[in-house]
Amino acid sequence: METADVDAHNDDYDYDVLVVGSANADLTVRVERRPDAGETVLGTDLVESAGGKGANQAAAAARLGGRIALLARVGGDAYGELLLNAQRAAGTDVTHVITDPGARTGTAMIIVGDDGDNSIVVSLGANAALSPQDIAAAHKVIAGAAVVSLQLEIPMETVEATAAAAREAGTRVVLNPSPAPESLAPALLAAADPLVVNEHEARRISGAADGGPADWARALRALGARSVVVTLGGDGAYVLDADGEAAVPGVRVTAVDTTGAGDAFTGALATRLARGESLATAARYAVRVGAAAVTRPGAQPSYPTPDELPGA
Ligand code: ADP
Repeated sequence: METADVDAHNDDYDYDVLVVGSANADLTVRVERRPDAGETVLGTDLVESAGGKGANQAAAAARLGGRIALLARVGGDAYGELLLNAQRAAGTDVTHVITDPGARTGTAMIIVGDDGDNSIVVSLGANAALSPQDIAAAHKVIAGAAVVSLQLEIPMETVEATAAAAREAGTRVVLNPSPAPESLAPALLAAADPLVVNEHEARRISGAADGGPADWARALRALGARSVVVTLGGDGAYVLDADGEAAVPGVRVTAVDTTGAGDAFTGALATRLARGESLATAARYAVRVGAAAVTRPGAQPSYPTPDELPGA
């Protein structure tokens, strides 16, 4: 158990990481073949689990230790309770999760076929109401965090307001622009330190369809990102910042389910940056956390504690 890591908090801050983002109940059914339009097929029993990119990042970070808080909205329904309980079990501070009695909790309806491919319908529910006003009310919380971690499953104006508030307060911003947008506002890109992208997001946002991780990372820095991490699945990650570039090799594991691996990576990266590690060192740790997450099914249920990490 890496106790030294767990104890290495920075006492200048209330939180190591504040995650601002989505919380969804993942409702999953497996089927032999995903239905065509107008068709009905039978599936397995429904599995309900805690998900949503924001909630996933917070849970991943909290399981690794440190002071982690989530700023999100859930509805006053059973799924809201499920999500709050999952965060509490991981060790997340849920003081800043707003329960809206008049809203439904966000849900992702996931149909997984035998071919491993899936079809997903997301109902934003309470996530859609996370507003710039909520962010304005949380200025002190943002200023009291070493790192604020963001993704794009909440309204873009709320993401932009959070990034602006963080920059004003001198809080470092980790941005995972997922689901991948066509483009990102220049101010948002300029706040990202780092921008964390998978291959698909890297190609799309950089506009550099060809080339490799180094090309995408350079293009993203040219667009304004202060630093860039490209995650490469089983091949690890590529890092580019003012100190230079680093290729972080993957950790060889038997992959069972890659759901939420990117969120685990980003949550882990944020905790290490909060402790003052270099981007390359933090990415080496995050690659091990991402690898652990693919060895077990589900998103949040797959996230490791420090003593469960593969690789050295
Ligand atoms: P996303 O889940 O966002 O598509 P990636 O597929 O790049 O992102 O995965 C994120 C991280 O998860 C990788 O950097 C790596 O650490 C880990 N990972 C993903 N797939 C594998 C795999 N097959 N073997 C080992 N590690 C993996």
